[in-house]
Amino acid sequence: MRQVKRRTLLLLVPLLLLAGGLVLFGIKYLANGRQWAAFSANSHAYTGGRLTSGQILDRNGVILYDAASGQYHQDGKIRRATLHAVGDRDNNIATGVKCALRDRLIGYNLLTGTTTGGHRLYLTLDAELNAAAYQALNGRKGTVAIYNYKTGEILCMVSAPSFDPADPPVIPDGDSRYEGVYLNRFLSAVYVPGSVFKIVTTAAALENLPDVEDRTFSCTGSVTIGGDTVTCPRVHGEMDLYDALAKSCNCAYAQLAVELGGDVLEQYARKAGLLDEHNVSGIATAAGSFSAGEDSQLGWSGVGQYNDLVNPCAMLTLMGSIAAGRGAAMPCLVAKEATLQGIYLSSPARAAAPIPWRADTCAVLRKMMRNAVTEIYGQNRFGDLNVCAKSGTAEVGGGRAPHSWFVGFVDDETQPLAFVVVVENGGSGSDAAGSVAAAVLRQAVQEP
Ligand SMILES: [Zn+2]
Repeated sequence: MRQVKRRTLLLLVPLLLLAGGLVLFGIKYLANGRQWAAFSANSHAYTGGRLTSGQILDRNGVILYDAASGQYHQDGKIRRATLHAVGDRDNNIATGVKCALRDRLIGYNLLTGTTTGGHRLYLTLDAELNAAAYQALNGRKGTVAIYNYKTGEILCMVSAPSFDPADPPVIPDGDSRYEGVYLNRFLSAVYVPGSVFKIVTTAAALENLPDVEDRTFSCTGSVTIGGDTVTCPRVHGEMDLYDALAKSCNCAYAQLAVELGGDVLEQYARKAGLLDEHNVSGIATAAGSFSAGEDSQLGWSGVGQYNDLVNPCAMLTLMGSIAAGRGAAMPCLVAKEATLQGIYLSSPARAAAPIPWRADTCAVLRKMMRNAVTEIYGQNRFGDLNVCAKSGTAEVGGGRAPHSWFVGFVDDETQPLAFVVVVENGGSGSDAAGSVAAAVLRQAVQEP
């Protein structure tokens, strides 16, 4: 009897060890399986370190990259315009789909492992619209993005400078033509926002200064705050809050910033999502920053200068939220996923964008940004589109021309498009970035 017990025990110990090992492996597999499959030593998906599984397509089924052949689209304009979305040959662009979403391209599945041939990833982008946006930048550095704020689909996402991924250039160190070329400026850059930040200061003023819509502001071209001077490019005279935003009066906004205080401004920038990282179909974006100084520095931070930094994707999301209120979606880049045999996989539910400010605040902002278009920027640039916008001309110092911003949305249920354009060292926001926005929006509404 005793011998039987001992034998049972002898069997039980290795069985328990085996079971324990299986559980441990199961946990590790659940946690790491995706990385194991996407590791470049996996010969099912890589040859000589190059991914050989999967295809990247645009929203209309145009193949942008085929991993099996290593081929990009045949049109060089489209290759350059979609480089940062798709990724380069050597995966220097870490946020490109080729690199950041390689586990999905391989077709990794928890139960079945990797799929032969990988998966087709259909992006939300329109390749032709990207090409039009790249062309509108006309060799200047910057970024252009348009998204549908109801569905979250990013229709256009261009970053410049770019290059032809089918024939990548040798880039010497310090070559300014290719400065930050591996960075997708829409997802990963932060810029001084300049006057587009006045949208945040306006929201804070509307919610904290009850009489602000009835006030009259007076601009003599400069105002002295704490012994320092904040200036406007010209004398704006007497205005209400609507005209102060449309004319982008620094004097009015610096005084509002000082009255509100740095803590309140920071709180409103945070509520707007401008200080957070966001997630675009699994790809993380850069977080912005806000630090209010004292007196005139606080005044300058209220007009988007001083140490303010904003990420273009966060700004685009804020535009969607102002346009749609509670119904806005977070921007996303992957429309759908299918096997190479054409079997579609269920896609995750679209994420809702954060709600920045009160609904009545957003309603007033829509009217104010509409007023800026009709009074200052010119409706004729946008055809019949009911565009609401704010420009920014952000001083960057060092004797360089300011960065040019133009942000906003189409206030129309049938054309729910929000946009952000940054032209680096482009000069006037309305002229440089505004013209790019107008050209790309006109093209966007022509698309089927
Ligand atoms: Zn002024």
